[in-house]
Amino acid sequence: MLGHDHALSGALAFAVVAPLLPVSGTQLAVAAALTAGAGILPDLDEPGSTIARTFGFLTGGFAWIVHQLSGGHRKGTHSLLGVALMTAVALWAGSWQRSATAQHPQLWWHMVPAGLILALLFSAGFRALYIGGHHGDLFGIAVAALVIWQGWDLVEVTSWHVPVLAVCVALGMLAHLAGDMLTHDGCPLLYPVSRYDFGLLPEPVRITTNKLAERWVISPLLLAALAYFVWRDAGGPILITASPAWP
Ligand SMILES: [Zn+2]
Repeated sequence: MLGHDHALSGALAFAVVAPLLPVSGTQLAVAAALTAGAGILPDLDEPGSTIARTFGFLTGGFAWIVHQLSGGHRKGTHSLLGVALMTAVALWAGSWQRSATAQHPQLWWHMVPAGLILALLFSAGFRALYIGGHHGDLFGIAVAALVIWQGWDLVEVTSWHVPVLAVCVALGMLAHLAGDMLTHDGCPLLYPVSRYDFGLLPEPVRITTNKLAERWVISPLLLAALAYFVWRDAGGPILITASPAWP
């Protein structure tokens, strides 16, 4: 699947579950953008991918390391274990960020891991969705700084004290896996236990990346579904209430 469809599917996944979470307005938009970035996170195992090129040689080199550690492209980062590990990293980064409070300003550097994750996900997501053009990465860094400053990524979504950052990472990655499972390649969900590639569709109707079915069916469907759920999350139909001109 193409990067922009993976990013759209991530944003869509968040928009679908948003009513279950205590986010609205700006926070909801920010979390959906974050999940769009997480939607292309699994392809950090491929040095040529959209997310690997986000910050030039820095992310390119990191992607090369991920490629080596995860067993290659479409291996570890496209498995349930990979999703669990990345979600755990996001959870850890969130709890570290939380420890840097106004009472402990000397711990400011505890915000660095969460800041790096946010900058990568926002910048990669904007890049995949062609938001901000050549300045998408700078825009992503600016949004990441704002979110860290406001602590929006730490909004807790359940009584288990899970920060929304971790929810976005898990949702976006799962949406990515679902997307790749519509293609002929499938995903090795049980890697490294098994290398079997799971798919969501029978082989004859699976799609090929960037061919007609993706461009003319999958992409428009994702956009339409995202538009619908964003509209629903924004409160549905806008009722124009007539107010009397003369009291
Ligand atoms: Zn992939």
